[in-house]
Amino acid sequence: VAEVKVLIEGYAREIDKGWLASSTVTLIRAGTKKAIVDPGCNRAKLIEALNEEGLGTKDIDFVVLTHGHGDHTLLCGIFENAKVIYPEEMYNNDNQVSYEADVIGQGVEIIKTPGHCPEHCSVLVKTDKGTYAVAGDVFWCTEGGEVTWDVSQIDEAHPAEVDMKQLVKTRKMILKKADFVIPGHGKMFESK
Ligand SMILES: [Zn+2]
Repeated sequence: VAEVKVLIEGYAREIDKGWLASSTVTLIRAGTKKAIVDPGCNRAKLIEALNEEGLGTKDIDFVVLTHGHGDHTLLCGIFENAKVIYPEEMYNNDNQVSYEADVIGQGVEIIKTPGHCPEHCSVLVKTDKGTYAVAGDVFWCTEGGEVTWDVSQIDEAHPAEVDMKQLVKTRKMILKKADFVIPGHGKMFESK
């Protein structure tokens, strides 16, 4: 069975001239393979969190980027041996190939979850505790806020350019498939 662990809970706080923000970083273990979903942009925190798992940057086999925003992607190059999945291709240095949804291992599935942006993807992981959706910014909130998962509500976290109709569809799909949702910023929540 696959395992999921949130290494860093993502945060997002608006400050005077910009944001203090980094994405949730999630570790998936599937058989002998290890994958990171969204390495984020806080290097010190990431290295420390890996060390706490007894891991170094060399030990990660895959990095999945849910989407291209810098607060989720900035550190994807620090994993010497990882293949980087984003969004249609899998990169092995300069070699780009297509990939199967279950490339990481048994019980792990990369799915398309458009809305926050068109290319957005998420990762579903079947564990013995239930199915987890590592959902990136399909769900997120600013610091101190609650993740809005009431799909009928448009939350402040999603600006006008977001395809809200598509996002609502995607959210419904994720809430149906997953028992636990890991947002791009903010706390994990149960979907039922
Ligand atoms: Zn984000």
